[in-house]
Amino acid sequence: MIDIQGLHKSYGDLEVLKGIDLTVKKGEVVCLIGASGSGKSTLLRCVNGLEVYQGGAIRVDDRLVEAERKSIRDIRTRVTMVFQRFNLFPHRTALENVIEGPIYVKGEPRAEAEAYGRELLARIGLADKADAYPDRLSGGQQQRVAIARALAMRPEAILFDEPTSALDPELVGEVLAAMRQLAEEGMTMLVVTHEMGFAREVADRVLFMHGGLILEEGPAAEVLGNPQHERTRDFLGRIL
Ligand code: ADP
Ligand code: MG
Repeated sequence: MIDIQGLHKSYGDLEVLKGIDLTVKKGEVVCLIGASGSGKSTLLRCVNGLEVYQGGAIRVDDRLVEAERKSIRDIRTRVTMVFQRFNLFPHRTALENVIEGPIYVKGEPRAEAEAYGRELLARIGLADKADAYPDRLSGGQQQRVAIARALAMRPEAILFDEPTSALDPELVGEVLAAMRQLAEEGMTMLVVTHEMGFAREVADRVLFMHGGLILEEGPAAEVLGNPQHERTRDFLGRIL
């Protein structure tokens, strides 16, 4: 589904991604871990066409991702993103936030978008919050609305960039539960997270990034339980 080869990305003189190779197959859940500044967000932003890159290639369903191209709009509806900060529109209800993309980006009829939006909110346990404004929702509920919004585009894959790190600890579980449910339903997911319990239980593969490179990757149990690289061990030792 997602195929990244030899990806290089710089901001001016600062080379942030130094040759990333990564494929995510349909239905796979891949967790990306690594210290702050290692390039995780930049990688996701490149996949979603939010950043230009200088070398290598990113393909989604065999279509080249190029930020400046018109086709990027289409790719962004196939691969949607959930951010650390939920970025809901404050003056719109939960349901209106969810249906914005389908209506204005995909041109879906409002009635259809609303019906599907309500169904999605119900699936994540927020049926009764459809008409609530974001400031009436907890952080966990807002992030679940953001997940419903990402799903409303009927994407083939979702990228998550530390979706729980801005939440109060007691709200993390409900968001991880929603993500776990998605994974069980077969959604293709690339997830930057420091929730090692989630990675261990849900991820098919875990990748450790350091200094713009993937230093280690493998099944979660191996990378987290028996890391081969000293830097992976250091990192895990610091966060666990
Ligand atoms: P991570 O998500 O792993 O913490 P990032 O991808 O956010 O890492 O950042 C990787 C590096 O790129 C950092 O050194 C960061 O300062 C730099 N960086 C990120 N975004 C920009 C930007 N828009 N302009 C310049 N440098 C940036
Ligand atoms: Mg980041």
